[in-house]
Amino acid sequence: MEQSHPEPKPFEFDIGYEQAYKEVDPGDDGVDPDDLGETAGDGVVEPGEKRRIRYPVGENYLGDPVEIPITILNGKHGGPTVFFSAAIHGDELNGVKVVQEVADRYTPAEIHGTLVCLHVCNVPAYEAQQRYTPIYDQDMNRSFPGKERSNTTERMANAIYRRFVSKCDLGIDFHTSTRNRTTIYHARADLRNPDVERLARAFASNVVLYGEGDEGSLRSVATADGIPTITVEMGRAHRFQPILIEKALEGVESVLAEYRLLPDEPVHWPGWYKTTSADSEKRWLRADIGGLVDMQWGPYPFVHEGEPICTITDHFKRTERVVTAPFTGIVVGALENPVAAPGHPLCHLLRIEPETRDEIEREIQQGEFDGYRAHGDAWLEE
Ligand SMILES: [Zn+2]
Repeated sequence: MEQSHPEPKPFEFDIGYEQAYKEVDPGDDGVDPDDLGETAGDGVVEPGEKRRIRYPVGENYLGDPVEIPITILNGKHGGPTVFFSAAIHGDELNGVKVVQEVADRYTPAEIHGTLVCLHVCNVPAYEAQQRYTPIYDQDMNRSFPGKERSNTTERMANAIYRRFVSKCDLGIDFHTSTRNRTTIYHARADLRNPDVERLARAFASNVVLYGEGDEGSLRSVATADGIPTITVEMGRAHRFQPILIEKALEGVESVLAEYRLLPDEPVHWPGWYKTTSADSEKRWLRADIGGLVDMQWGPYPFVHEGEPICTITDHFKRTERVVTAPFTGIVVGALENPVAAPGHPLCHLLRIEPETRDEIEREIQQGEFDGYRAHGDAWLEE
């Protein structure tokens, strides 16, 4: 990637579907209002412009266009092009709020490069407030890069990938845990790839889990295409969790600083930084009896070896199974729906070494972890 004052250039996305895209109120971002409305033909966002569009990627049962909201901010100064995507899973809302804020808070005058904000990728799933595309339960995050002549979800994924993502230099895809579970705020990244490692480090989350990503996920496909991409996992579905959203916005700003899109901003350092490798110890603790689950860990997502994580009881309280931490670690993910059958995941635990443990305990003392208890991310007490 070019680091020395690259020339600003237009961001071009072509119109691949039958219908024209629409533009939304320009505000005062330097777009001529006469340019708005239905636009046919090639879309171009010139340097110094910020445009808000509804881009058709398919049709619904009424034959009306399925349009995704996209903001493209092309900075006055040249630099890399970064995408931010949310709601590839339709009920994962924290990222939708992050992308709304990213799209709103920066101006073309201050950005050196281009921001491509894909506010809601899977519109049918978002409208239904469910994870997968309705009816056929297709997972958009297994459908990239998609195909023009394939199922509904692959077609939408293809439009998003080809028209927008493929024109970017790097990107961040926002997710939450799936329904009935929650997850600690962390990034997922293929840390063997130095370009991805740079991005993950710049995002400055405390925890980064190593992994190539599933086949057909936006992260794995874009990364394999030379567009370093990380996934951010944050909290639970169906919620806005302000503490986590604020952390993610700081992470985005740090990434923009690292890649010189905001050349005067500092890159953040998260305080402590835990990455895993392929052989790091992380384990899903699973139920081996069925029954009612009382979570006992908390309020902080941190347990010492031997401490109880939860107790499973039968309805008569005749059987009781205490599940304890096999090692000291961070609770990366946890069950929220409090019933279990044998094999159900209860808790995803990541081993922490003594130095990191000391750092985490210091942060707990200082109240840095209190955010997890406030603002609807209670983990335990809700
Ligand atoms: Zn997701």
